[in-house]
Amino acid sequence: MTSAVSAPSATPTSPARGLVCRACGAEYPLAAQHACYECFGPLEVAYDQAALARVTRADIESGPQNIWRYAALLPTGQDPAQRVTLNPGMTPLVAAPALASAIGLQAPLYVKDDSANPTHSFKDRVVSVALTAARGLGFNRFACASTGNLANSVAAHAARVGAPSIVFIPYDLEQGKVITTAVYGGDLVAIEGSYDDVNRLCGELVETDEFEDTAFVNVNVRPFYAEGSKTLGYEVAEQLGWRIPAQVVIPMASGELLTKIDKAFSELVEIGLATAPADGWTVFGAQSEGCNPIATALHRGTDEIIPVKPTGIAKSLNIGDPAAGAYAIEAVRRTGGWMDYANDEEIRAGIRLLAETTGVFAETAGGTTVAVLQKLVAAGKLDPSKETVVYNTGEGLKTIDAVAEQVGPTYQIKPSLRGAREAGLLG
Ligand SMILES: *Cc1c(COP(=O)(O)O)cnc(C)c1O
Ligand SMILES: [Zn+2]
Repeated sequence: MTSAVSAPSATPTSPARGLVCRACGAEYPLAAQHACYECFGPLEVAYDQAALARVTRADIESGPQNIWRYAALLPTGQDPAQRVTLNPGMTPLVAAPALASAIGLQAPLYVKDDSANPTHSFKDRVVSVALTAARGLGFNRFACASTGNLANSVAAHAARVGAPSIVFIPYDLEQGKVITTAVYGGDLVAIEGSYDDVNRLCGELVETDEFEDTAFVNVNVRPFYAEGSKTLGYEVAEQLGWRIPAQVVIPMASGELLTKIDKAFSELVEIGLATAPADGWTVFGAQSEGCNPIATALHRGTDEIIPVKPTGIAKSLNIGDPAAGAYAIEAVRRTGGWMDYANDEEIRAGIRLLAETTGVFAETAGGTTVAVLQKLVAAGKLDPSKETVVYNTGEGLKTIDAVAEQVGPTYQIKPSLRGAREAGLLG
């Protein structure tokens, strides 16, 4: 007797072709490797261009309302059953006319509001891609070195799939980042040092036998992690009707997000899915004054990043030795953009201005980006007559102390008409 085994319904395969060194171009197979054996340069995912070129707008538009609609443009996650994910993405692109007029922009301005993700920051995108790749590579414990939001997201993703997690943070993070990580029940290790100390320790732990089965999302599976950020470029283009905006303003910690939004725009144009403005798009980067090594290098006219010891309230951006800094500078220079930084008072004002003009309550990273947008317009670096998108990457409730002393009830009154009258509410 013969039995015909029916072929499983075809799952589309990954368009990724391997890992390639960003510095020397050496190629490696897809694996948990982040540095080049030849030159120690960082690796990134390389794609089969022909596979990318087969993707159509209709394929994407018929996909789910989350990042996985772009699975055919990502290195992993083509099979829904294999995903480790909270299904982030398709966050609102908010038209911001009142913010535009407050800062002197005539062209349309939009806020891409990634505080709407499941753990309230853009990190859910990178974690979903990194952990899906990690599980495919056989890892069964999930870890990261985090400035806060990454910790939230890794712990939540691990909880969703019932996997153990161990996340490492600097000991002095905001309560709103610590509690929103610890609540998911994995191990949370507070390190008596800066993020850069945390990251260095994770780089050492990953080499030990005890951590052999552990995927550190931003260390050994970093090339996959970084690709998740591309979805913030794809989505904005799709939400604008498959157009690349003329100008984008992006917060920078390692600088990776900025480089990947630019990469996403390039890919969409190359494969014919989106149209770019006639004179291309321009990328701008935002840092805080307390941690501005990338912007400072650009201002000095070099791409040599001098590490700093971070200070200031924009803790999610406090990476003093940014891994992708030189690549962020390259993208900004190539597209004719600029970078700037904001001090703590300007960041607080940026949070409030964004909230008052758009109804979006951002964390300090968003306040930083809005403050820098304002500076770029005032300095004539950003063209007020061109369509602009500003990225809000995190949620104000996680860094509530930033504005806690500046806002509160407008009035406190007795519960009576007389109370209302005495306060002047009845004229
Ligand atoms: C991590 C983070 C960033 C920056 O990410 P990089 O890719 O390291 O530059 C921006 N905003 C928020 C809220 C973040 O948590
Ligand atoms: Zn190399």
